Amino acid sequence: LALEEVLARGFAELAPIGAARDGAGYERFALTAVDRELRAWFARRARALGLRYERDRNANQWAWWDPPGRVAEGHPPAPGTGAPGTRAAGTGAPPDAFVAAGSHLDSVPGGGAFDGPLGVIGGFAAVEMLQARYRGPVRPVAVVNFADEEGARFGVSCVGSRLLTGALDPGAARALTDAEGTSLADALAAEGVDPAGIGRDDERLGHLAAFVELHIEQGRGLGDLAAPVGVASAIWPHGRWRLSFEGMADHAGTTRLDDRRDPLLVAATAVVAARAVAARSGCLATVGRVRVVPNGTNAIASVVEAWLDCRAPAESTVRAAVDEIADAAGAEARREGVELVVREESFTPEARFDPALRARIVDVLGGVPALATGAGHDAGMLSAVVPAAMLFVRNPTGVSHNPAEHAALGDCVAGLRALAAVLEDLACRG
Ligand SMILES: [Zn+2]
Repeated sequence: LALEEVLARGFAELAPIGAARDGAGYERFALTAVDRELRAWFARRARALGLRYERDRNANQWAWWDPPGRVAEGHPPAPGTGAPGTRAAGTGAPPDAFVAAGSHLDSVPGGGAFDGPLGVIGGFAAVEMLQARYRGPVRPVAVVNFADEEGARFGVSCVGSRLLTGALDPGAARALTDAEGTSLADALAAEGVDPAGIGRDDERLGHLAAFVELHIEQGRGLGDLAAPVGVASAIWPHGRWRLSFEGMADHAGTTRLDDRRDPLLVAATAVVAARAVAARSGCLATVGRVRVVPNGTNAIASVVEAWLDCRAPAESTVRAAVDEIADAAGAEARREGVELVVREESFTPEARFDPALRARIVDVLGGVPALATGAGHDAGMLSAVVPAAMLFVRNPTGVSHNPAEHAALGDCVAGLRALAAVLEDLACRG
């Protein structure tokens, strides 16, 4: 099997889907026509490898490589149907447990080609490698595409894995809306997913022995270590806050400065405060998105919404930083006569990856560096409930969520080999 070719073909097949014009990266938002094409690719890829395709009730896609003679009706395999005494070591999962690998296919606006797809393409490729060596696995292996990981459309990240693990309330999820006012419930229904059925899936989780996500690194950690592949130790606690500033629309050419209640001026204070607070408190704080109403060149804005993203190694640091930024914006809001409301849209506590699984992976791979990351991932959501791990592939520039995001094909192959070795260890040996 020419691994470079297998990976390159996967990226080439996905390349035209959701590509923005003029090389501006990808616009692959959840539950859109573009997403439908990505999901159709997943189903085709499953079929091409002879894997059993399934969409779960949270819109996540699964492709199952079943042990020979054990093609289960439905999924996961019914308790008691597995080979006896094959408890995945160190996982505490039942003997008929399965192992999963995957990531996501959606993107941020102007996203790169690797964040997400590498883990899905790599998951399929790893199964293909193992199919060449084994008639079948000892326990089922699933390749997963988690729905709406980036949260670009509905504002909450990792929707598919949050719902699966119960980290997102189904009612709150159904009520999420996109910029056009379409609810997540309606968007799910339009794709044939019953919005009433979303929510924690204990049956599936109870049989998931381990989840491994292959992902491009979103920083330069591995570059600094001169290592093509690493394993994740933890994901920083992180959250999103919506800052709503309400002032008064007026004419830019006639309204005296003293008479203005300019919400954009106050929002600018918040943007600047985020950087200043981050610099002195050891967190990362970013305002990367604002909505200005009415957004006119010659109009003082009436309403501005700004989204604050904050991450740090400790939750207390994140909380303190957000409070300080909100206080700074609040003081400026009072001076300007602007109303400020701060709402937490999502918060994800620190994800600590299962130490036993990580030790096992390091052992299988013969020693790879471990590193923490500030980026959220489906594996982080799963780590709260089941043993989960991440394999990072070197990103020479560290640039991510950008069309320039890149990993060398050789490093992607190293990541693929690592993933295949881990899956082989977890699922192909008694
Ligand atoms: Zn990702």
